[in-house]
Amino acid sequence: MSSNTPPSKPNSTPGNAPAEGDHKVSNFLRQIIENDLDKGTYTQRRWAGTPGDAAHHAAGQPDPAKIRTRFPPEPNGYLHIGHAKSICLNFGLARDYGGVCHMRFDDTNPEKEDTEYVNSIIDAVQWLGFNWEANGQQHLFQASDYFDFMYRAAEYLVEAGYAYVDEQTSEQMRAARGDFGKPGIDSPFRSRTPAQNLARFREMRDGQHEDGSMVLRAKIDMASPNINLRDPAIYRIRRATHHNTGDTWCIYPMYTFAHPIEDALEQITHSICTLEFEDQRPFYDWLMDRLCEGGLLAHPAPHQYEFARLNLTYVITSKRKLAQLVYDHKVSGWDDPRMPTIVGLRRRGYTPESIQMFAERIGVTKSDSWIDYSTLEGCLREDLENKAHRGMAVLDPVKLVLTNWAEAFGSDDYTEDCTQPALPHHAVPEGQTPPPERVFKIGKAVWIEREDFEEVPPKGYKRLFPGNVVRLKGGYVIECTGCEKDASGTVTAVHAKVIPGTKSGTPGADSVKAKAAITWVSVADGVPAEVRLYDRLFSDPQPDAGGKDFIEALNPNSLKVVTAYVEPSLAAAKPDEKFQFERFGYFVADRVDHAPGKPVFNRVTGLKDSWAR
Ligand code: ATP
Ligand code: MG
Repeated sequence: MSSNTPPSKPNSTPGNAPAEGDHKVSNFLRQIIENDLDKGTYTQRRWAGTPGDAAHHAAGQPDPAKIRTRFPPEPNGYLHIGHAKSICLNFGLARDYGGVCHMRFDDTNPEKEDTEYVNSIIDAVQWLGFNWEANGQQHLFQASDYFDFMYRAAEYLVEAGYAYVDEQTSEQMRAARGDFGKPGIDSPFRSRTPAQNLARFREMRDGQHEDGSMVLRAKIDMASPNINLRDPAIYRIRRATHHNTGDTWCIYPMYTFAHPIEDALEQITHSICTLEFEDQRPFYDWLMDRLCEGGLLAHPAPHQYEFARLNLTYVITSKRKLAQLVYDHKVSGWDDPRMPTIVGLRRRGYTPESIQMFAERIGVTKSDSWIDYSTLEGCLREDLENKAHRGMAVLDPVKLVLTNWAEAFGSDDYTEDCTQPALPHHAVPEGQTPPPERVFKIGKAVWIEREDFEEVPPKGYKRLFPGNVVRLKGGYVIECTGCEKDASGTVTAVHAKVIPGTKSGTPGADSVKAKAAITWVSVADGVPAEVRLYDRLFSDPQPDAGGKDFIEALNPNSLKVVTAYVEPSLAAAKPDEKFQFERFGYFVADRVDHAPGKPVFNRVTGLKDSWAR
């Protein structure tokens, strides 16, 4: 799926609503965009083909993109399901409205960033089904490429009297900032002239001052009811090697200053972020106004809109806390199948389609809420129902011996092929040919689930117990005769008699009525497999809410590994291939450890919702 291509049909619906058939649920962001498109808010915009200042874009063509959005992660960790919401939102809106979504690395902080993360982020976004190619161009940018412009913008603010160098200590600045009830106090350095400030700022840039000895602050209003407008710091001194710009700079812009400028240089129209940035919006607008009136940035300036971040029950969505799980070896890595990272979800068996469906289904709102984990699992089940081939696996095996096998078929070594559909009837999309049938053997001995035999059946039990008649699914009807036990009383083998002439798919299949059908795998062709049964990583639905120690909420039983037997079609799986193990749920061949001859499966999810509280 390509994200950036304009809608294939010309947009015939009035008001630029998405073309009919899209079935997109509207939301406040869609309404804002549709309104902007109706009013032509952005029709005069130009685009020079690359990010740049006002003059750069003025020399460009009318922007072929109707809107521009961006996804701007900081490359300081792996992306998680919360980011997926933002990715689907930003790339999805651009796709639906004939726009372009920029992939931007917000790498203005020199300390925490790493190219390992850059690559993982690129992979994650592409895997989710999006790309940043549009109109023959790549829209992959990094904020650190804008350091020159940011510095120029800062000098402009200084010269225009909108910024000053403050040499107070950070404690003094904090004390002078005031609080909600108390206005701040002007810094003694606030009344310096622009020329003095410019000289000082250049000294900062030239490395003449210690880290932390002074900062450049915007000069706005120390009495503003919005504390973010009380002369926020916009540049600091920090001697750190940056992964892109090396040691070129010893001063770095603050996020609140850098981000609006990044948006503006890229001609972003709708800058969508999470709610915690709402209080920053006045500064965003202030900065855009100053730099537009100074002629540095093109009109109309981008605008920031906030939406509620994703909170998912039983899940942590903070890169820092996820990193702690990795570095403290609470999980096997960023891609541990229990992790809510994109790489973790992928390895667990989630599909891009299921995550997109999830993002669509939870929608976007302006108020925080918690989404139940079962919503995500439900999307996965819905996606895999018609895609994942069926197969039988025995997860807790005990041997079943068909004691009359030689009598019925002439030899104990005799085996016979059974066939079953890879997809049940209802799962084959109309007009499509069903996939080839699965073939597996039946013989004298088969593996069955330990729980499918009871020597003394509880009330209502329909599976194997002495005297009961059941079907080996896709094979023969059998009658249970008893079992063997070891000294401790544990069942070591179940005994039954096969009833010839009752094989599934043959005319005699219904000649004997079975009380139940049980899953099984033949000893003759079943393959041992490592199966990893994952459960929720945390036992607390809100593991880190209210500053709780999430480590204490770790579920000690989140991983159980069993040796199972699987039928040949499952053993032949390719890494990443998903299956429905009949009766157990969805499983994926582990993309790291699964190999031909050494199958390894992860349980993605059960067949029914087991999460709802
Ligand atoms: P973290 O706190 O996990 O480090 P972050 O917000 O600092 O996350 P960024 O790299 O800055 O991570 O995020 C990139 C984009 O993803 C931002 O636009 C941010 O708003 C969005 N995002 C991050 N977490 C979530 C979430 N839980 N739900 C929705 N969007 C999110
Ligand atoms: Mg961040």
